[in-house]
Amino acid sequence: MPELPEVETVVRGLRPFLQGQRLDRLLLRRADMRFPFPEGLSQRVSGKTMASIERRAKYGLIRFDHPEPLSLLFHLGMSGRMVCEEEVGLPFEKHDHVIFETAKGQVRFNDPRRFGFLDLIEGPDDENRFLGSLGPEPLGEQVTPAYLRTAFKDRASPIKASLLNQRLIAGLGNIYVCEALFESGIRPTRKTGSLKRAEVERLCTAIKGVLSRAIEAGGSSLRDYKQVSGELGYFQHAWSVYGRENDDCRTCDAPIKRIVQSNRSTFYCAACQR
Ligand SMILES: [Zn+2]
Repeated sequence: MPELPEVETVVRGLRPFLQGQRLDRLLLRRADMRFPFPEGLSQRVSGKTMASIERRAKYGLIRFDHPEPLSLLFHLGMSGRMVCEEEVGLPFEKHDHVIFETAKGQVRFNDPRRFGFLDLIEGPDDENRFLGSLGPEPLGEQVTPAYLRTAFKDRASPIKASLLNQRLIAGLGNIYVCEALFESGIRPTRKTGSLKRAEVERLCTAIKGVLSRAIEAGGSSLRDYKQVSGELGYFQHAWSVYGRENDDCRTCDAPIKRIVQSNRSTFYCAACQR
């Protein structure tokens, strides 16, 4: 499932294809994905120039050159990927739901499980139903140990749940939360408000570190992908704990534990994380 670094990689990969280009046609090959496409979507954006491609949390944003704010938001869901091709009119594949056509080529939004979606933003971002309630970006300057200490204060929920709370920090998902908690030596079940000052500092550094490294890895995979297939979306990581139940901890050799918190798997090392 794509998380923040994967979405960032997709956004960076889309820029050379889409940024500054006129969207000749947005071809919708069905009426919906996870949600119905906004009414008149294709007509609203076709023919307009894509001024910039950005990321906010786990959302991609295509900003159009337009007198009033006009952006197309995309979410990759569980299995969404973007495939860039330097030709228009190439045969479509199964699960190609949306095609961006430009003079430079085409980008196919392919999503077998169809948890991905599009939305049209015609106004300020903070009035949009997906973006409006989001907290600050974890890699942004706003997220500091001081910010986290205030956000965590008196919170009774487990630290894992607080980190997944998109109103506190936007864009963190299950994988990077598990990894950041491992890196900072904090047990995922700890009560959020019980974290000591030094722990919050370590956690803040770890969050930014795991995300930055994953984005860097995505950048190198991007260079490889572009040579092969133009396919954007996924790359392999060497996780420390995520998906490694019963494997040896890379630090202390103890078996990695898996528990379920709010219906999602949490992986951690009981020896390294207190
Ligand atoms: Zn360990």
